Amino acid sequence: MLPEVRLGRRAALLTCQLDNYRLIVGDDVMDEIYELAAHLKGLHVCQINSTAYGGGVAELLPRLIPALDTLGIRSDWRLIHGPPEFFTVTKSIHNALQGKAHDLSEAEQALYLHVNEQSAKLLGHDYDVIIVHDPQPAALRHFAGARQAKWVWRCHIDSSHPYEPVSQFLLPFVSQYDATVFTMPEFILPGLEVSRVVCEPPAIDPLATKNMELPLDVCKRAMADSGVNPANPVILQVSRFDPWKDPLGVVQAYQLVKQRIPTVQLVFIGAMAGDDPEGWTLMDQVEEESAKDPDIFIFTNLGGVGNAEVNMFQRGCDVVVQKSIREGFGLVVSEAFWKEKPVVAGRAGGIPMQFPQEFHRFLIDNIEDCAERIAHLLERPGERGTFGRAGKEHVRQRFLLPRLVRDVLRLLTSLVS
Ligand code: UDP
Repeated sequence: MLPEVRLGRRAALLTCQLDNYRLIVGDDVMDEIYELAAHLKGLHVCQINSTAYGGGVAELLPRLIPALDTLGIRSDWRLIHGPPEFFTVTKSIHNALQGKAHDLSEAEQALYLHVNEQSAKLLGHDYDVIIVHDPQPAALRHFAGARQAKWVWRCHIDSSHPYEPVSQFLLPFVSQYDATVFTMPEFILPGLEVSRVVCEPPAIDPLATKNMELPLDVCKRAMADSGVNPANPVILQVSRFDPWKDPLGVVQAYQLVKQRIPTVQLVFIGAMAGDDPEGWTLMDQVEEESAKDPDIFIFTNLGGVGNAEVNMFQRGCDVVVQKSIREGFGLVVSEAFWKEKPVVAGRAGGIPMQFPQEFHRFLIDNIEDCAERIAHLLERPGERGTFGRAGKEHVRQRFLLPRLVRDVLRLLTSLVS
């Protein structure tokens, strides 16, 4: 069998929690969830992606799967298994879907297909629905052959302007799915011919450790214990070390802000994802920059900075930055708004839809604007508060877990009924 990610007993814990969401999102969504789930009880779903840690998918599944389990829909979470070179190829495919020119050599194509073929042989047969995330395992459906299961490809990437030779390579495989899901209509892979294409953004879990309420003084104390001075302004970016997240651009924007506000500090919380070999080089470059400036801090998941710490820094900082050049959704933006933090972010992918309309001026396209908007907010605590509160309400209505659970249940209903 494909390696399984075991989530332990969290499903049992969530049983009593599910109704706690009612207080946050209201009755309509929750009532629809229970109604849909009543017809789906006993369904067996398999979620397949390529890593259990680092990145948005690994963030989503541990929240979604227990919620579905609680509703009587059993889900396994399995990983595609391959050598390190496979993940170098799949990162190239990921980058090419986001528009970067990269011609897959015959050897790269062969490796991609070989790993998918071998993984397909390790897939169990007793699933009703198999949901495959992103390009790494996308050819599984092709190699799995005829089965009773319905297949869904959930693409989290902005594949609206892919590098064409790579999209031509992938299209025959993803066109075999019963349904595909994209974050927004603009992301749909050109040339895709699938009868059911659904658009639904991801969501954050307000009850997760990463997003739960925490007293501000505790957050500030944790920051101080890490060497950051919470009495001085703090800018924060939380993201994988990925060129599309532009961590070096963040450093440059911070340097411009520092000319105006000399006491400002930059905290970078960066994850290494299991399926992202590019990250190490970029982390070296960011560390090189930070070595020159004692007010730049870098923390990583490898050093034990986990969900609680991300929460504390998101709450304790003054401005959250997400300077993405290309982005799928960018969960960190909703995470920050949920904590009433103002966000300055790249006008990319799913980020603008997370911004309240009246604060779109904080979407930026270059380093200078990024610096200017950050400095503007640091100098105006009142505006930071108004922006943060508007952001929270915007997220509450659109990007919280119950809405995602409902969307998934709607999709499952349409597939199996
Ligand atoms: N994240 C984290 N620690 C880190 C970096 C990122 O916990 O050091 C989390 C972050 O809080 C968010 C997710 O990883 O929940 C990243 O998702 P996003 O959609 O922002 O970006 P992706 O990595 O999927 O492109």
